[in-house]
Amino acid sequence: MKAFFFDQDGILYDSMPKHARAWAEVMHRHGFDFSEEDAFVNEGRTGKEVIREAIWELEHREASEDEIWDIYEEQCEIFRTLGEVEPIEGVVDVLRFLKKNKKEIWVVTGSAKSSLLDNLNTRIGPFFDRSRMITAFDVTHCKPDPEPYLLAWDRSKYPKKDCCVIENAPLGVRSGKAAGLFVIAVNTGPLADAALWNEGADLVFPSMKELLEWLKSSD
Ligand code: MG
Repeated sequence: MKAFFFDQDGILYDSMPKHARAWAEVMHRHGFDFSEEDAFVNEGRTGKEVIREAIWELEHREASEDEIWDIYEEQCEIFRTLGEVEPIEGVVDVLRFLKKNKKEIWVVTGSAKSSLLDNLNTRIGPFFDRSRMITAFDVTHCKPDPEPYLLAWDRSKYPKKDCCVIENAPLGVRSGKAAGLFVIAVNTGPLADAALWNEGADLVFPSMKELLEWLKSSD
């Protein structure tokens, strides 16, 4: 493996519990039936898509771009009030190991939150380069569509067999597998491992520590 495509939320940042709380809160304010667990099930989709679908399901109508952005900004505001997010436990050791071994580190995320994207190098460590980041702003179709991972693979110039996806969300695993890539899931959230295996994950680890051991043993 030469290039590693890291998902952001739940893989680099321990941000999913706060995302889930912010989603449940903003949806409740707007009258949508949406739990914290729904946020984990939908993880990987862009905020825009989640809101569009919620409005369609509740009110059977197409949401306007303005109302989608208003609700999304409100979700971002609630997210910010919940405090700083920390790196996922053990991920810095994984990144350090890969950097030392001259592997390419990419970020492939549906996130549009500049508060997280712009601060990866200060909050996580000096591992990231903007030219190796695919975000919500770079693609037409977000996860679970394969486009984000296909774009990372295309830009990396490596054959698919040399690329590896690191994901925590079922829809992210689906995206990586649909792109024809090897996908390692690290289950950092509350869903059962089966949700990740069922989407075709090649490996599922309970934490970054086990991922690091596997990387060392297969190097
Ligand atoms: Mg994630």
